Amino acid sequence: GKGAALVTAVARRLARQRHDLDEILASFDLGPEKLADVARRLRAAIDQGLRMENRGQSSLKMLPTFVRSKPDGEEHGDFLALDLGGSNFRVMLVQVQRGRRRVNLHNQVYPLPQDVILGVGEHLFDHIAGCIADFLENTGMINHRLPLGFTFSFPCHHQGLDQGILLNWTKGFGAKDCEGKDIVTMLREAIERRNDYEVDVFAMVNDTVGTMMACSYDDPHCEIGLIIGTGTNACYMEELQNVECLPGDKGRMCMNTEWGAFGDDGCLNDIRTNFDKLVDAASFNPGLQCFEKMIGGLYLGELVRVVLLGLAQRGLIFRGRPSQRLFTKGIFPTHFVSQIESDSMALLQIRSILRGLGLDVTCDDSLLVRRVCAAVTTRAARLCGAGVAALVEQMRENRGLDHLQVTVGVDGSLYQLHPKFAQKVTEMTARLAPRCSVSFRLSEGGSGKGVAFITAAACRVREAGMH
Ligand code: BGC
Ligand code: MG
Repeated sequence: GKGAALVTAVARRLARQRHDLDEILASFDLGPEKLADVARRLRAAIDQGLRMENRGQSSLKMLPTFVRSKPDGEEHGDFLALDLGGSNFRVMLVQVQRGRRRVNLHNQVYPLPQDVILGVGEHLFDHIAGCIADFLENTGMINHRLPLGFTFSFPCHHQGLDQGILLNWTKGFGAKDCEGKDIVTMLREAIERRNDYEVDVFAMVNDTVGTMMACSYDDPHCEIGLIIGTGTNACYMEELQNVECLPGDKGRMCMNTEWGAFGDDGCLNDIRTNFDKLVDAASFNPGLQCFEKMIGGLYLGELVRVVLLGLAQRGLIFRGRPSQRLFTKGIFPTHFVSQIESDSMALLQIRSILRGLGLDVTCDDSLLVRRVCAAVTTRAARLCGAGVAALVEQMRENRGLDHLQVTVGVDGSLYQLHPKFAQKVTEMTARLAPRCSVSFRLSEGGSGKGVAFITAAACRVREAGMH
């Protein structure tokens, strides 16, 4: 009768809903074969990027960093270090003592207002120069002429250590008239405009490079730097003879892969979901930084938000009624994702986070939100693992080894704060690169320390040249 028909209709709807839900979650679930294939594609992009001919065809820029050696313990002195490219701007005074394993760090964080990040380039550097002045005042160093190293976490074309042309902004930065310009010159000019202190800029490096250098001070096997924070990227030691755009074929150079842009040529289209496309389309730089948008902290929360909206619109969550606030871009920061996935987080606490977004949630909804978070972050961690596997395999083959032991220096808020990310990266790397033993080592605050070592070495070279 009527009752039975109703029951069947409801059962059918439930089955369809379960199917939709499984399909959406499965679209984030990359199996080991797929990931092995991603690692292969990344290696192909590395090879192409290292070549002269058609290197523009690779989505990996493979930028020389002009860093060629590890710290040797002879580094000594007081250095100023700047760090621009995460959520804050930091100024540090790093005191390195010859032969000592320890360095002293004085560290001050300066928030960067949106209008500075997105305003006129000169103003951004005036702002930075102002922060340095404030820091030198506070530390009583305003009358010292300190050597300075700049960690600048964006893709730059270098022709030496102490200059670098910004190729393009990433991660929501967008100050005008900087792309195509030498960033060190912009910094020096801003400091000259103030005319109240002097510094000597010796080096500008990517954050991956600073992280690798800081870590290799303590661990000689560290030859890779990895960032999993707001954005993502990695650098590693490549044979100079493989770097076709540079002369010389002896020894190695640290190469900045800029792997965040991996897939910008469409080579990852088969793994991108419609949700990835939505996040990309609403971002500052649509069509760019494909890999980064599947991994970086700037994007994962946003990805979770659009998936939840999609589920709600199909009636699969929140009783089909998303709150008005869930439609707002950026309302779901990635640290929520880390909290929700933490084992100590009770369902009630998840519920209260979601209530804060105006969502009326059941227990099932809370569980489902946690599954969505896990699907998004697991994919991100596995992709990072595939990336590291590609790098270590490249290094192993370069050196003609059956087995390679290598350490990866890692930094970044997502890697540090997320309860399961680190472990998943490690697991996937081991699985995809069985002939390498890879250890991961947190290099906290590393980029400041690392750039100080690089600056110290450059300083020594210049002094030796003067005598
Ligand atoms: C930048 C890289 C940087 C990475 C991590 C990316 O958006 O392009 O240069 O290393 O973020 O900060
Ligand atoms: Mg950083």
